[in-house]
Amino acid sequence: MEPLIVCENLVKIYRLEQEGGGSVEVQALQGLDIVVSEGEMLGIVGASGSGKSTLLNVLGGLDRPTGGRAVVGKQDLGQLSPAALDEYRRHTVGFVWQQGARNLISYLTALENIELPLTLSGEVGKATRERALELLDLVGLRERMDHRLEELSGGEQQRVAVAIALANHPKLLLADEPTGELDTATAQTIYDLLRQLNKKLGLTMIIVSHDPGIARHVDRVVAVRDGKLASETLRVQKADSEEHHLVELAVLDAAGRLQIPREYLEQFNIRRRVQVELTDQGILIRPPEREHPSHEQVASSGEQEPAESEPLEVSSTLLKVWQSLKSRFTRVPKDPNGDEG
Ligand code: ADP
Ligand code: MG
Repeated sequence: MEPLIVCENLVKIYRLEQEGGGSVEVQALQGLDIVVSEGEMLGIVGASGSGKSTLLNVLGGLDRPTGGRAVVGKQDLGQLSPAALDEYRRHTVGFVWQQGARNLISYLTALENIELPLTLSGEVGKATRERALELLDLVGLRERMDHRLEELSGGEQQRVAVAIALANHPKLLLADEPTGELDTATAQTIYDLLRQLNKKLGLTMIIVSHDPGIARHVDRVVAVRDGKLASETLRVQKADSEEHHLVELAVLDAAGRLQIPREYLEQFNIRRRVQVELTDQGILIRPPEREHPSHEQVASSGEQEPAESEPLEVSSTLLKVWQSLKSRFTRVPKDPNGDEG
């Protein structure tokens, strides 16, 4: 399938002015590469502060990239004039936020809430009403259309927000934690709605979520860590059945670099360097042999000394050894807070 979105080495740096003068930089995106196909429904997960919203804001034309490229359709967002970016924002993308009701007016009905932005964007007369009804149908809220917003449930309010996001016939729908304030069952209905719209309208979607279970609802999930893509989870069909299972894959960046999950590194006490070997099965990554305290070293020096190049590493190993020895020879006190050895 044709890619709709191509991000290459995308960088976004925010500059924060300090009170006493000067400024600090926040690298929200640190060379992110991603390709999203036309019609794809993509999930993005990642810890708070990892750059998810920044990516959506750049793709939505709300923020400009500091470096690298973000291309949507044929438009290179970093190169567009302010007027062209404004056009792009109004005609190509739709946004859904976590607090869907944030941009809605509580004392207006669902229908009126949808008509309002249509009117503001220049639609007039009968066309406004027709389009608003069409949108209500799309999100399954036609029979609730005369209810005021405050009379609707959280899930229904989020449906109104989705309808508004679709009002400009976007090619791309960006949703930033759209189910963040909903209970699990309601969240499920919103995911189902988004999937329906994705199929029916051929709409490309990017959904940010901190629910790892989102993998069940989308075509692909990517995990963002420190402003870069860290892994992708795909749904793979089992060979002999209709069943799907999830496979998590590490992602190489454009230069062939790989991010290895921190837990794995910790498990093998890997810090700065690894040994990479070819085996029959594939490529094996393991701690370098020399970093294990060898018999000769222990024998010749009588005690472990920090290796020249990595004093921190060895001293932290020593610390662990010392802690484990200590715990073995110290009686565990009854009061857990009394352990001040
Ligand atoms: P996420 O959505 O994954 O929680 P964000 O994209 O909101 O992460 O933020 C990424 C990093 O960029 C964070 O360190 C955040 O504090 C910073 N950041 C986001 N927006 C701004 C901004 N407008 N000005 C300064 N720093 C920002
Ligand atoms: Mg965010």
